[in-house]
Amino acid sequence: MRNGICPKCASETVHLVEAYRLADHNIPITTWSSAGLDYYICVTCGFVESYVHDSTELAALAAKRPRVMPG
Ligand SMILES: [Zn+2]
Repeated sequence: MRNGICPKCASETVHLVEAYRLADHNIPITTWSSAGLDYYICVTCGFVESYVHDSTELAALAAKRPRVMPG
C-alpha cells in the first residue's frame, strides 16, 4: 500500500493521511507515551492500512504490549 498501489483492488489511488499529527490517532505505549499513525487509504475501494509513523517507537511497543502468538 505504501507503494501507491491498493492490495485489494489494484488501483493506483492511494492517499496518505498523516494522522499522527492529530491528537486522537495514536497507540498508547505507556501512560506518558504513544506511537502516532499514518493511514494509507484507497479512494477507489475504501481499504485502509495503518502504520506507526516513527519506526523507532516499535521497540517500545514490543516491550510494553503482549505479542500475539501464531495459532
Ligand atoms: Zn482499493
